[in-house]
Amino acid sequence: MSTSPILAPLNAAQRAAVTTGAPQTLVLAGAGSGKTRVLVHRIAWCLEQGLASPSGILAVTFTNKAAAEMRARIEQLLARPVGGMWVGTFHGIAHRLLRAHWREAKLPEQFQIMDSDDQQKVVRRAIRGLNLDEHHWLPKEAQWFINARKDEGQRPAHIDTAGDHVLQTMVEIYKAYEEACQRAGLVDFAELLLRAYELWRDTPGLLRHYQERFFHVLVDEFQDTNAIQYAWLRLIAGERAHVFAVGDDDQSIYSWRGARVENMQRFRRDFPRHEIVRLEQNYRSTGNILDAANALIANNTARLGKNLWTDGSRGEAIKLYAGYNDIDEARYCVERVRDWHRDGGRFDDCAFLYRTSAQSRVLEDALRQADVPYRVHGGFKFYERAEVKDALAYLRLANFRGDDAAFERIVNLPARGIGNRTLDDVRQTARLERITLWDAAVRLIAHRELGSRAAGALQQFLSLIDELAHEIEGLGLDSTIELVVERSGLVDHYRKEKGERGLDRIENLAELVTAARDFELPEDDGELPLVSAFLSHAALEAGEGQAGSFEDSVQLMTLHSAKGLEFANVFLVGMEEGLFPHTRSASDPNQLEEERRLCYVGLTRAMKQLTLSYAESRRLHGTDYYPQPSRFLRELPSNLVEQVRLGGASPALDPRTRVVEDTNGYPYRLGQRVHHRTFGEGVVLHLEGRGAHTRVQVNFAAGGVKWLVAAYAGLEAD
Ligand code: ATP
Ligand code: MG
Repeated sequence: MSTSPILAPLNAAQRAAVTTGAPQTLVLAGAGSGKTRVLVHRIAWCLEQGLASPSGILAVTFTNKAAAEMRARIEQLLARPVGGMWVGTFHGIAHRLLRAHWREAKLPEQFQIMDSDDQQKVVRRAIRGLNLDEHHWLPKEAQWFINARKDEGQRPAHIDTAGDHVLQTMVEIYKAYEEACQRAGLVDFAELLLRAYELWRDTPGLLRHYQERFFHVLVDEFQDTNAIQYAWLRLIAGERAHVFAVGDDDQSIYSWRGARVENMQRFRRDFPRHEIVRLEQNYRSTGNILDAANALIANNTARLGKNLWTDGSRGEAIKLYAGYNDIDEARYCVERVRDWHRDGGRFDDCAFLYRTSAQSRVLEDALRQADVPYRVHGGFKFYERAEVKDALAYLRLANFRGDDAAFERIVNLPARGIGNRTLDDVRQTARLERITLWDAAVRLIAHRELGSRAAGALQQFLSLIDELAHEIEGLGLDSTIELVVERSGLVDHYRKEKGERGLDRIENLAELVTAARDFELPEDDGELPLVSAFLSHAALEAGEGQAGSFEDSVQLMTLHSAKGLEFANVFLVGMEEGLFPHTRSASDPNQLEEERRLCYVGLTRAMKQLTLSYAESRRLHGTDYYPQPSRFLRELPSNLVEQVRLGGASPALDPRTRVVEDTNGYPYRLGQRVHHRTFGEGVVLHLEGRGAHTRVQVNFAAGGVKWLVAAYAGLEAD
């Protein structure tokens, strides 16, 4: 048995988990202990042993990318293609169910997923429709409220307002929003989950069908499931299914989005025949990195408690760099990446992790300056870019005239003389008659209720969409997109936008055609028309923020989106009070613990090298801050950390921390004012190298930032 390629690469505890006969299993284990590996091998094992057929497998992962990797890995282990499994994210699987059973789910066949941007617009319209002041009832807050309620499984009717006026109003907005979505066939992300749950709950025959089909239900990152996801899992598991959940309470980082780590305890209650498996050996990180992570997380009180050890090497010390400012911090990290690359390492294996997505900009600048290729995951994703959404909105509307979000987006883009007054009339009619914007427009024109210019312009728009719908019939996906881009007039529209930005947008439209050409119908979505599948793909991708595979490049992402991933060389930047832990969280003990878990997630992404950094001054939203180093730095054992410090200032942290590198005897300090005979006055930003090779970076008031060889620069200290 142990010669099986499925079991051979596992330790005893992992093997026991993979081959378990228990009907319900909860693998509770720390970072890098092989939870995801166990889940993958479990599926392969069940298939190989004939305990399950591929169509009997339902596996939920955290990202689409993880799902694709899982599928590939299973096929590799079995050395054959495996069709028929359902492997995906909660959202992806819910979407698939709703597509297959749109009628029972009470959705129009052509329903569209909308992203958070579109959602906010529909919420805003609902607020206006109720004649509420949107400066008082902020669309963003209402959106947050609605999503939180949906995550808890609550429809407006379920919410007890107890006479609370504010709550009452929020519920009314929720209701109006729901009606608008229903009319327009729009589904937001939280709705996907809730709808899929209700579909099963309210259609017993269908639930039975799927319960009989999915005999094996497996969930990765179980600690971050929310109430509705958990309820959905319980439904499908029923009394019979084998449930296999893996998770780590110390990595629960989505409570702000409704995730409930208590689900791990509930599992024990709700699945009484369960077995708990613990994995304690970490295979990912060096001893130093693991010890630092363990020490950090020991500061949390709300823990289930786990051991984690490694028999790998201690590895290098963790590096800590105190940047003179955020630019210097970024420059240092990029410099280390270049060293790594020069020594034969790949850029792909380097990751910059940060607390908030706005931090990426300074890092991006430094990477660009150094000519190092990089990818930003999350943040501005291709499918979230305005011009891409514009083009897709044309396709959406041609595909389904009831799509109000698409209608709003493009009715006057490019400008065709449809003014706000006309649009208000359309919106008003839609609201009063409870019809879609499209139907309202048709009606207003037919009843001659608009001025002739307005009616003409609107009619032109409607005809354009109708013609487009006709023209794309029977075309391939890429020709469809090409035609849409051309007929929409968007290229001409963006050409008028000056400079780089306009060009960039036009390039993105061209890229969209390429994306369509490369698009393959996911095996899962075999029943869907290609155009619908592509639109759903775009919406789900945008919601998730996974980047595609490109050239060898440094990976940039928030700590939240780094969950489950690993990199040989990790940089955790911006380790400052106020930023990390975030100001919002510092005063609330529960939130502080979640920030610490987030830090634990960050540290445990690193396999070989880990660099932590902070800046002594940082410019945020145009203001300079002088932050304190993060408290998390003080929670790391000082013998594991080596402080890289230039300029001879005293270490800001634990005095026992070793300090390496120095000014090499040159009479410059960071921040020192200097004078150069050609470039004039400047400030020392950085010192690097040793002896005769020491280089100094100076920001000259007139000449900008320059690197100079200290021995020849002839700088005079002011
Ligand atoms: P996380 O909590 O971060 O999601 P995880 O518990 O899911 O981590 P994996 O990603 O499955 O951990 O495994 C971490 C690393 O250790 C991977 O590179 C994996 O291939 C490797 N690994 C796991 N188990 C073994 C093993 N028995 N032998 C060798 N390598 C292993
Ligand atoms: Mg994992």
